[in-house]
Amino acid sequence: MQFSLIFQAPHLAQADALILSMYEDEALHKSPAAADAALGGAIADLLSTGDFTGKASQVAVLYPRGALPARRLILVGLGKRESLTLDTLRRAAAVGVQKARELKAKSLASTLHGRGSALSAESCAQAYLEGAVLGNYQYHGQKSSAPSPELPETLTLVLPEDAQGDKEAVERGMNIGQVLGEATCLARTLVNLPPNLCTPQHLAETARQIAQQHGLSVQVLDRAEMEALKMGALLGVARGSAIPPQFIILEHQPERAAEGKTIVLIGKGITFDTGGYSIKPADSMVAMKNDMAGAAAVLGAMQAIAELKVPRHVVGLVPATFNMISGEAYLPSEVLTASNGKTIEVISTDAEGRLILADALVYAARYKPAAVVDIATLTGSIVVALGNAAAGLFTTNNELREALLAAAEATGERLWTMPMYSDYEKLIESKTADIKNSGGRHGGACIGAVFLKHFADYPAWAHIDMAGMADDLPNNPIYPSGASGYGVRLLTEYVRRAAQ
Ligand code: MG
Ligand code: MG
Repeated sequence: MQFSLIFQAPHLAQADALILSMYEDEALHKSPAAADAALGGAIADLLSTGDFTGKASQVAVLYPRGALPARRLILVGLGKRESLTLDTLRRAAAVGVQKARELKAKSLASTLHGRGSALSAESCAQAYLEGAVLGNYQYHGQKSSAPSPELPETLTLVLPEDAQGDKEAVERGMNIGQVLGEATCLARTLVNLPPNLCTPQHLAETARQIAQQHGLSVQVLDRAEMEALKMGALLGVARGSAIPPQFIILEHQPERAAEGKTIVLIGKGITFDTGGYSIKPADSMVAMKNDMAGAAAVLGAMQAIAELKVPRHVVGLVPATFNMISGEAYLPSEVLTASNGKTIEVISTDAEGRLILADALVYAARYKPAAVVDIATLTGSIVVALGNAAAGLFTTNNELREALLAAAEATGERLWTMPMYSDYEKLIESKTADIKNSGGRHGGACIGAVFLKHFADYPAWAHIDMAGMADDLPNNPIYPSGASGYGVRLLTEYVRRAAQ
């Protein structure tokens, strides 16, 4: 979809569909009032029936029949004026675009929802573009019939003439929103791809493309290079797969980045998790192509950070491998040695994510990072705790916790703080190694976080367990079915704020 901005009376915009928004239970004013006058009171009639009240994400369609230049009028509800949030605006943008797509409208014109509220014009424009791009995402998979052409083709934001003063702010917001939306869709497609296509090599190739297009540097370590670095935990997991692992390093190094302020983002890239010899039941295995959603979030965030030219040195690390079964696959009771020399007794080969992250966390130390954030579909346990409503946030650093929670609030990509009590440490004590990789089911997400802490040897580290957020998030029009792309906007926002 192509986006543009013009200044004219919105109700006079020419388009296949004109989208106007209304707050709940309010009298008509501004663009809807002007449109209503031209339509001889058709909107007032609609409101009087109670069929449309302006409730958040509610949508109605009217046909102007020549009374307006647009062929269709789509009304979108914003809910109560006093409870307006950026998330309401994202959803409103998504439902408007989805309705237009359903009607096969090619060209859209729309008012900037939320403009004139307490939210800035820039953030309203950003939220609009995020919602429109995210809501319009479709994954066609490998169907042999050609997908229908992408609709709508164009969306023009129409602001009244007297809003010219907002032009720069709105354009800035539109750019940020589009960058974030598209980077999220990149992550979605990586997660949606089946595991025979989304291999460690495909993740590496995607990283190279991002680097080439957006001016990042990229390095991909192969198995021999990982062996030289003694990444025994990651290599232990990778041993069962004929397709070799990749360790991806993307680096955003802007000229005006401050010294000593490096942020490292780490994404878990298990391109399919069979569970290994601790094999998963068939029903819970089938979704496991999503076990690289953390990697996808980091790749998407690195693209957005580069496009937005965030003035901060940021490194993205992706340990990528399959977790498979073969004659060489690693076994329960094996002891692996991670690259910091710590030995790990393998209790469950299905607790593989923490093993590949362990070596990535150790690798991150070489940058002397100001902060490290890892993101992973780590445990089923976090899904039991939080469902599909939030990811779990684990950190012992207050400043980093507050920064990540603020980014979560701003983006609507929720985080909920989880504990890292020393009690959990007891549960990963091993008789044969320094620690073991599983401490039982109770508190499994917390145990996973406490395990990772053994490899995060720097002052500020946070772990995000997004296992419940990777795909099929219910009841939100900005998340069509399939992968959510969760984490791209969250990580980018965190880094943008940190760079200010
Ligand atoms: Mg896994
Ligand atoms: Mg597993």
